[in-house]
Amino acid sequence: MNSTTEKRIALISVHGDPAIEIGKEEAGGQNVYVRHVGEALAQLGWEVDMFTRKVSLEQDSIVQHSEHCRTIRLKAGPLEFVPRDEIFGYLPEFVENFVKFQVKNGINYQLVHTNYWLSSWVGMELKKIQGIKQIHTYHSLGAVKYNTIDNIPLIASQRLAVEKEVLETAERIVATSPQENQHMRSLVSTKGNIDIIPCGTDIQRFGSIGRDAARLELGIAPEAKIVLYVGRFDPRKGIETLVRAVNESQLRESNNLKLIIGGGSTPGNSDGIERDRIEQIVNELGMSDLTIFPGRLSQDILPTYYAAADVCVVPSHYEPFGLVAIEAMASGTPVVASDVGGLQFTVVNEQTGLLAPAQDVAAFANAIDRILLNPEWRDELGKAGRKRVETKFSWDGVANQLGELYNEILGQTAKELEPALLTK
Ligand code: UDP
Repeated sequence: MNSTTEKRIALISVHGDPAIEIGKEEAGGQNVYVRHVGEALAQLGWEVDMFTRKVSLEQDSIVQHSEHCRTIRLKAGPLEFVPRDEIFGYLPEFVENFVKFQVKNGINYQLVHTNYWLSSWVGMELKKIQGIKQIHTYHSLGAVKYNTIDNIPLIASQRLAVEKEVLETAERIVATSPQENQHMRSLVSTKGNIDIIPCGTDIQRFGSIGRDAARLELGIAPEAKIVLYVGRFDPRKGIETLVRAVNESQLRESNNLKLIIGGGSTPGNSDGIERDRIEQIVNELGMSDLTIFPGRLSQDILPTYYAAADVCVVPSHYEPFGLVAIEAMASGTPVVASDVGGLQFTVVNEQTGLLAPAQDVAAFANAIDRILLNPEWRDELGKAGRKRVETKFSWDGVANQLGELYNEILGQTAKELEPALLTK
């Protein structure tokens, strides 16, 4: 195999380090996606290098995950945490260090898969410098997100321009749901090539434990009614809607109802501020006895939490995909989710869970109660959810589709290079 057809891929995720702990402010679905896609591609025979920004001197510059998969941390700006909306100015240094890394290691990447708009800019620069081919996954679209929040950040116009340019210039855009595809076409540009390849989940790990065993392990009574949230503390996640909905549940006065709000936070950071706000609402509503904040849930303990729950709620105002929904479904637990974005694709209303209008407290309360009050139906929904994830959302299936796409683009690259090689 020569260097142009070699199965080598660089995944770039500037702000979402695939090698760190998940569940905090800047570490969520994107980190999980890049890490799992990377590992699954390596299993399929790809040489996978995942690039991210180094945020402290103590962090290793290279983390080897398996023989053919590693995370490489490049310096770009100060060696400290920088919120994603403030990273753009440091990207030229990221590009410079990416190029230096290649020179130093004798590597010349033909193809880069970029993640989130910041990394897309890096990919577009590399295209100009070395003619690299680019595949891009947005993970979140500014054009959609800015419609759902009150405080539009200063970086917004830059982001919208970059998101349009990458859609029009990348070899291929990967939309993770038909809904995201539609948003790109209606809100960003009608130009450019889009493929739909969903996010995935670990179907061996999620679903490996049953409800009774999970409850025993967590010390939860068999008769308890458990409503579960998993995710970052971010106002767009709609945790407030969930808390208010549980407060309106018909089971509110029974001693069995419990609300578990899982996710990490750092005091003083934006997620710490949101957690304080949610705790305050819990206290104001007199719900502190029935609400549990277990903090960040490691990927090892998560399957047990999902399995122990009667229902998992994803009340986001906006959700490009929503890994939590498919993790819960893989664990056999029905999902009540906002009727938005990727959740409309993953959750089949009345079959694997229920969809409710975002921010509609009464609708969420009603949906949660319908499931809590009917354990047989809960189990049916749970089984159908598991089946849906098995057939559509396993990481292996997702990595297979991505691998085929990479091969297609690399094949085109090899063809384009052929005449030049022949004249040598
Ligand atoms: N997560 C976790 N521990 C936590 C909270 C979240 O491991 O305490 C993981 C969760 O399992 C999921 C990811 O973080 O894989 C969140 O992804 P999602 O797409 O739902 O939301 P995002 O964070 O990308 O907005």
